[in-house]
Amino acid sequence: MELTPGTEIVELETGVFARLHAGLTNAGIIIGDNSVLVIDSLRVPSFARDLISDVKHLTDKPIEYVIDTHSHWDHAWGNEEFPDATIVAHENARDEMLDVEWNRQWREKVVAANDPWSEEAKLVNITPPDLTFQDTMSLHFGGREIKLLYLGKAHTSGDVFIHLPAEKLLFTGDVAQDGGIPYLGDSYPIDWLDTDDRLVEVDADRFVSGHGPIGKHSALIEARDFIHELVGNVQDSIETNESTNSRSQTVYKKMEYRFSGFRGFETFAEKIEEVFERIEQQSK
Ligand SMILES: [Zn+2]
Repeated sequence: MELTPGTEIVELETGVFARLHAGLTNAGIIIGDNSVLVIDSLRVPSFARDLISDVKHLTDKPIEYVIDTHSHWDHAWGNEEFPDATIVAHENARDEMLDVEWNRQWREKVVAANDPWSEEAKLVNITPPDLTFQDTMSLHFGGREIKLLYLGKAHTSGDVFIHLPAEKLLFTGDVAQDGGIPYLGDSYPIDWLDTDDRLVEVDADRFVSGHGPIGKHSALIEARDFIHELVGNVQDSIETNESTNSRSQTVYKKMEYRFSGFRGFETFAEKIEEVFERIEQQSK
């Protein structure tokens, strides 16, 4: 049995793994004494089944917990494949997963993209978490402490960070990547500033993001700086009443000097308008 093509499992500490999926969504795997904890259930049921099969390369223990870093389809639409596990997420992520209109729009988008998983996305039974929390929660699992942190709204309203304090390790979902631009269309840009300021204070040397490679703490700082510069530049444009025709381009040009090497920078200019819209909506 081979690992799922395109995936790689990296052991970060004894029993703690990042399952990286090139160009797609990463997951985390933590092996406890009697069971396994998985971080993110991935995009559609077949992807979740691939993840389950990759876990079996590491251990025969059953998967007892699934933590959804947030509600987005590519992280949580595999939940239905874990009927015997407790699915954990932030309470706001649960609300998003129960929001019929939110899910209808996402499903439409994913189906319309005509990707290899689009057909399957039509049939996903979106499965909200069983266990939610508000601020923080600690899980004592496999002799280690696993902290679930909520630091405020950011990429969505319910982003969870999974922190292993003793190992100085962090799973960041889509809030921070190592040199990559996150999806901004559901974001809370103003709140994201403070959330990122709290995030960089968490004691971690390395982090696993929902997309891209494993990062060091310096990449968390860069990800924080990216959001601060983006929001600052967008706010400057709003204050000076810059025309909607040129404002995204202005922001893009201002950020090129530092962030042009980020994954996704080539299509970043077209995504900036969403940030204007989110800030304008949220400041009404
Ligand atoms: Zn996301």
